[in-house]
Amino acid sequence: MPHRVTFIPGDGIGPEVAQAARRCVEATGVAFRWDERIAGEAAIKEFNTPLPEETLQSVRENRVAIKGPITTPIGKGFRSVNVALRKQLNLYACVRPCRSYAGVLAPAQGVDLVIVRENTEDLYAGIEFPAGRDRTAALIKQLSDWTSQPIQPDAAISIKPISTTASERIVTFAFEYALAHGRKKVTAVHKANIMKETDGLFMEASRRIAAAYQGRVAFEDRLVDATSMQLVLRPKDFDIIVTENLYGDILSDLCAGLIGGLGVAPGANIGDGVAVFEAVHGSAPKYAGQDKVNPTAMILSGMMMLQHLGEHEPAKRLDAAVAAVLKEGRAVTYDLKRDRNDPSAVGTKAMADAVIERLKRTAVRVSR
Ligand code: NAD
Repeated sequence: MPHRVTFIPGDGIGPEVAQAARRCVEATGVAFRWDERIAGEAAIKEFNTPLPEETLQSVRENRVAIKGPITTPIGKGFRSVNVALRKQLNLYACVRPCRSYAGVLAPAQGVDLVIVRENTEDLYAGIEFPAGRDRTAALIKQLSDWTSQPIQPDAAISIKPISTTASERIVTFAFEYALAHGRKKVTAVHKANIMKETDGLFMEASRRIAAAYQGRVAFEDRLVDATSMQLVLRPKDFDIIVTENLYGDILSDLCAGLIGGLGVAPGANIGDGVAVFEAVHGSAPKYAGQDKVNPTAMILSGMMMLQHLGEHEPAKRLDAAVAAVLKEGRAVTYDLKRDRNDPSAVGTKAMADAVIERLKRTAVRVSR
């Protein structure tokens, strides 16, 4: 039975990299029935909304989607499609593996860790009060009465909700992911020494959940500032990092930098029974339609999708094919060359072709 998957090309460089990923996952021999749906600029033109209900409905029905990046229009009143998708489908876990590949110029080598970021609350909840408004002044007065903490009258305020429900859910997800992927340790990252209530709650929740996995998966918790330094100095100390929304956002970019940048950083947003696979990078509009950017992050997101679908052997073959192309360093895009103006750099499509060519070679070897 072919896997039914919603395919959302996205906009900007989205369609190019999403198509590259689609061709590569198909080349593993796994059968798909794609349900292609639009979001982003094309959807604004056709439906006057960047996230049409029929696209959402398709993901709800198929339960798996692969999506190219989507531009957030500035000043047109549209919210980020990416954030809206996560909210509408309750995709509470953002999973971002960071792995070193030979041949990719990077500040660190031998990195192999996964960031599991809580997706639904924290300062990202968007509960904000602008400076100078009556409601903000009332809030400041109320807070000053309750806490005796001085707050400047011209302050803007953002609210950071951290719940036991969401914290236990994401930490449980991280431990289950560890078991499913043969990972040995979970590190919970917080700033509980300063934010004793919110981060303290997250820390306590992670310790409670960890106790249930004792003997199967190791556990530690660390402060986010110390973790940032240790990630740079000793990235191999980390296996799975589970953390709140904002820290996860920052640490996953730090880790993407460690392994060579956005061009090679895949990701997934996962909820109960629904998963959307997408690169960490955005729609890089200035490169749109040029067949220039690196498809690796999207292809590796496709590899994660194969794992999620239980297609472990094809996923391994795809990963090995990508690794071989990167290691050889010949049919790779400009950003993977030592000199970014290297005329031997190939385009998005040709790099995907090289991965497909590798896959075919391994398929021949397997069948012999
Ligand atoms: P971006 O990731 O699109 O691009 C930043 C820079 O990174 C690019 O100019 C390019 O130099 C480099 N880059 C990104 N992807 C690359 C690739 N595959 N190969 C080679 N180089 C690559 O970030 P941005 O410019 O901040 O955002 C552009 C738009 O994308 C915004 O509208 C933003 O909201 C949106 N965005 C979408 C998603 C998503 O769809 N999940 C994620 C992040 C940003």
